Amino acid sequence: MIAHTASPAKVVQVALPLPARRLFDYRCADDELIPRVGVRVIVPLQRRSVIGIVCSVGDSSEVPVNRLRKLNSVLDEQPVFASPLLKLLLWTAHYYHHPVGEVLQAALPVALRQQQPLAPALSRHWRICADGERVRAELPARYVLQHQVLAALATAGDEGLAEEAIKILSGRLTPVLARLHEQGWIAPFVRPAVLPTGVRGRTVHLTVAQERACQGVIGALAGYAPFLLHGVTGSGKTEVYLRAAAATLAAGRQALVLVPEIALTPQLVQRFREALDVPLAVIHSGLPVAQRHRAWWAAREGDAAVVLGTRSAVFTPLADPGLFIVDEEHDPSYKQQEGFRYNARDVMVKRAQLAGIPVILGSATPSLETMANARDGRYRHLALPTRPGATRLPTVRLLNLADLAVNDGLTAPVIAAIKVRLDRGEQSIVYVNRRGFAPLVACSDCGWQGQCRRCDARLTLHRRSHKLVCHHCGATAAAPVRCPQCSAERLYGIGVGTQRIEETLARVFPAARILRLDSDTIRHPARLEAALSTIRSGAADILVGTQLLSKGHDFAAVTLVCVLSTDQGLYSMDFRGPERLFQQLTQVAGRAGRADTPGEVLVQTRHPGNPAYTRLARHDFSGFAKAALAERQAAGYPPFARFALLRAQSPVATAPLQFLRTAARLGQHLLVREQLPSVQLMDPVPSLMERRAGRYRAQLLASAATEAPLHRFLNCWLAALEGLPAGRRVRWSIDVDPQEMY
Ligand code: ADP
Ligand code: ZN
Ligand code: ZN
Repeated sequence: MIAHTASPAKVVQVALPLPARRLFDYRCADDELIPRVGVRVIVPLQRRSVIGIVCSVGDSSEVPVNRLRKLNSVLDEQPVFASPLLKLLLWTAHYYHHPVGEVLQAALPVALRQQQPLAPALSRHWRICADGERVRAELPARYVLQHQVLAALATAGDEGLAEEAIKILSGRLTPVLARLHEQGWIAPFVRPAVLPTGVRGRTVHLTVAQERACQGVIGALAGYAPFLLHGVTGSGKTEVYLRAAAATLAAGRQALVLVPEIALTPQLVQRFREALDVPLAVIHSGLPVAQRHRAWWAAREGDAAVVLGTRSAVFTPLADPGLFIVDEEHDPSYKQQEGFRYNARDVMVKRAQLAGIPVILGSATPSLETMANARDGRYRHLALPTRPGATRLPTVRLLNLADLAVNDGLTAPVIAAIKVRLDRGEQSIVYVNRRGFAPLVACSDCGWQGQCRRCDARLTLHRRSHKLVCHHCGATAAAPVRCPQCSAERLYGIGVGTQRIEETLARVFPAARILRLDSDTIRHPARLEAALSTIRSGAADILVGTQLLSKGHDFAAVTLVCVLSTDQGLYSMDFRGPERLFQQLTQVAGRAGRADTPGEVLVQTRHPGNPAYTRLARHDFSGFAKAALAERQAAGYPPFARFALLRAQSPVATAPLQFLRTAARLGQHLLVREQLPSVQLMDPVPSLMERRAGRYRAQLLASAATEAPLHRFLNCWLAALEGLPAGRRVRWSIDVDPQEMY
């Protein structure tokens, strides 16, 4: 290829938020400032102009430089992504084979995807002064606006109110604020992006195992060191995070902590604030745009010593990172399943390696990938095998459904156990892994079954709202009274969901306060937070819910956990099915008996002899992991192989498989040409649920025993697929290290 050089015009390679696996060349105008790598620029693209990020600056391009279009303007003086973070993002784009412009875009706060300046506007707040409080009673009533503002600020208390929020009260507010300010009745302040410090809680004396784990991390702060902190539920992993973070902060560096759920942040934020006297920033997708921008800035400027966030917070810029922590590292929500499909846990480990600092992956049920890394010595293994003090792990009893009558989902021992808790004023959890009333509705006369018209899936009956709902595409229709096929009024629900269990419990225990938690009742993080505080305050006796209930919450008064109907997890078509089941059961069982009262777990099952259940009953995660790893090894599955899944979908039934067959032929050809015999391409197959939301889906698995050849193959394969005409008739994507195989 000929490189056309020219001087003095500089060529700038820009990442644009487009689904293209390449950079775009532009030239600087001769007299223009040459932008630095990592800054945002505005460039022409066809007839639009778009914001891109400069990835490199050079003198040449594959096309003659004078044919390149010119940059419109340079938005920043400082790079948006400092060089170590940019390096991580480029690695991530490369590793996941995702278009680099979309990766960089995903890492930017929304405010910066628009043309907002890099530094966020400070948010001016007002709070009421003591004189203002005093004067409120005497101020003549005709000063309506002043009264309104003072009342609003009095309600807001020390937190104060943002100026924008006060202005909603009236358009002509500025003179009112000025007058109140002149009188000394109110005062402005700038609300920092970080949470203030100074809430000291109790100090905990570490157990021997905790102490050993802390020393392990603290002794390794100077370089890259990945740790698995494997501690049973309630073993005090958080205390280890806190000590390790304290040591990092003492060295003047920052700690970044990832949690799987927004709902888990308030609890962890509280514990960090109690233990560490430092400013802390919280970053997650539920934050308003401006607030997230400010938190991002605080992390980047080093104003926040600790940054706590969910998946995408892994890309938070840090002035001086010293420690990374991934809590509940096994949690599937670290994997983004759409668009830019990355795993935040794995990116965090890479980031630690690039930054040369330790990373702690904590869990009671580590992923098999992490277990294998620890077993083979790539990760250092820190174990917390018991709960501190006198607290014991709960006893687990398996209830054989073959011997017991089930009434609307519940067996007699479960009902008896809940009754005991109600009498003692303790809380119970009833875990059902399906929401709705019944996962299937059918006609007893003609055998008709409710099927989604857009998916290969059955409709779930939601009786409260009288709806049939598809849990895969969200399609909703009124539940018919008569059978659509034979008109008989003989429709009935089969199986149990959370609603049905809630109804049963309400009938059996009419006086009990029952709280249902699933994605139907909890549509917003704030609702979950409210529900969690209801539970902690003791205002609910029985909690019915899906895995929303199982994730890391600390409920002191829960002494009983009942698990209903999880058997289908044993026979999942996905090779990770048993692993997920074991994780979910261990996590939900871990909610029992965290305080001084011992806990009990009851599991209703048709397969009490299955090793997944017997090991659960013995709290033998390690035994489970060992057996599961042996099975994976025998089958050649991850972590003993690397997978990449090419998916295609289309409203046209035949298009996905057609495309994938072409892709497979092309792939076979490339494997020969590139001499990559260790890479295997399976036959294209329809996805397990072939039709979803009106689209037909198919997939093609590529695998290799090791990473390098698979990635070499993907590089040339994807480049070739991008040029394939058949590729324009489907939507296709590549999923590296897929978590879900259907
Ligand atoms: P995990 O994160 O492993 O689930 P936590 O850190 O939340 O566990 O600890 C569980 C409970 O045990 C918390 O209430 C915590 O305050 C308490 N705890 C942890 N470590 C100790 C300790 N060394 N001594 C006494 N209590 C502890
Ligand atoms: Zn019928
Ligand atoms: Zn559907």
